[in-house]
Amino acid sequence: MKYDVVIIGAGPAGSIAAEKLSASGYKTLIIDPCNKKKICAGVLTAQYARKYEVNENYVERKIKGVRLSFKGIKGEISYRNTVEYSINRDSFDAFNLARAVNNGSELKKNLVLSINEKDSCVMIQTEKDIVLADYAIIAAGVSELSQLYGGTKQYAYCTQQVKYREPGDFFEMDLFPGGYSWIVPKKDNVVSGTSSDKGYPDIPGERGLIPINGPVKRTFSNRTLLAGDAAGFVSPFDGEGIYYARRSGEIAAQTLSRAISGNNPLSEYENIWKSEFDFLSMAKISRLLSNNTILEAFVREIKDNERFNKVVEDILTKEIDKNKTGYIFSLIRKLI
Ligand SMILES: Cc1cc2nc3c(=O)[nH]c(=O)nc-3n(C[C@H](O)[C@H](O)[C@H](O)COP(=O)(O)OP(=O)(O)OC[C@H]3O[C@@H](n4cnc5c(N)ncnc54)[C@H](O)[C@@H]3O)c2cc1C
Repeated sequence: MKYDVVIIGAGPAGSIAAEKLSASGYKTLIIDPCNKKKICAGVLTAQYARKYEVNENYVERKIKGVRLSFKGIKGEISYRNTVEYSINRDSFDAFNLARAVNNGSELKKNLVLSINEKDSCVMIQTEKDIVLADYAIIAAGVSELSQLYGGTKQYAYCTQQVKYREPGDFFEMDLFPGGYSWIVPKKDNVVSGTSSDKGYPDIPGERGLIPINGPVKRTFSNRTLLAGDAAGFVSPFDGEGIYYARRSGEIAAQTLSRAISGNNPLSEYENIWKSEFDFLSMAKISRLLSNNTILEAFVREIKDNERFNKVVEDILTKEIDKNKTGYIFSLIRKLI
């Protein structure tokens, strides 16, 4: 049997793509062994909450703002118009996958070993069988499989653990050049983690990788699309990836619907996400803040300068008007 679309990976990118395609009547299969715990701080950002419904099944706590610190200087940003959510990541992924299956997507709990693109179809070799499809979406996150098919290869290394501490309502970030530590409040405890671009921090905990270099050069071929982490869709500034995974999964589904029904080229995918995702600005801010002097002044201004505080809130909650990014860079540069 041949599928219209096979999706590899049931994270936020793959599950939403499967949900959208199966709801539109396409014969859709999602393949994931579903046997790995996802290492994630579990913050559904303001950007996510503005666009998507958030379900109480996986929410652990509302987040009211962020506390930033650098070398003992502490700045606090209370969100004015927005809220973020701390979630249980396993429940979130299970919820999204269930929606895909309820909409008619087939699920194979299996590992994909290789993907072979032919003129007339895509051949997907799993541990147990070979599956044929007209198109495939590679949404296998940071994995050997994604890497084999053009996926991202440069990461920040993260270690995180649960700590039994009274949770607050703020997301806490301790900044240092080349990384940061975080504390995310959960229902009854907190998750604490550290990321570094130089290798796994030498602290106990579970390990995970975050793509940091922005999108890969090419996210489409004749019959496959790369979505989510596999494509490098993570903000280089703050490591936000769930929103981009979900949104790229939606764009991938939309592109493939148009390819199946109208023979449209898969290059449409790249045109759409490039018009929406502004990773360049995020990378630029991140580069500016890799300088110790700027970073120190940045946190001090957040603490002392209300106007600057609001600008950083806009950056963190992604409420930046693309036309105003020049103004933001000039503000940060003036800190030197
Ligand atoms: C420590 C840490 C903290 C983070 N915190 C946040 C945060 O607070 N907020 C935020 O927005 N982002 C955060 N991120 C980033 C976020 O987790 C990712 O951007 C997001 O999960 C990407 O979704 P995805 O669907 O692309 O991939 P994933 O969620 O990684 O899903 C990929 C799926 O593919 C499957 N898979 C892999 N290989 C194969 C194969 N060969 N065959 C079949 N299936 C396969 C896996 O089992 C997995 O289920 C964090 C990341 C890390 C490492």
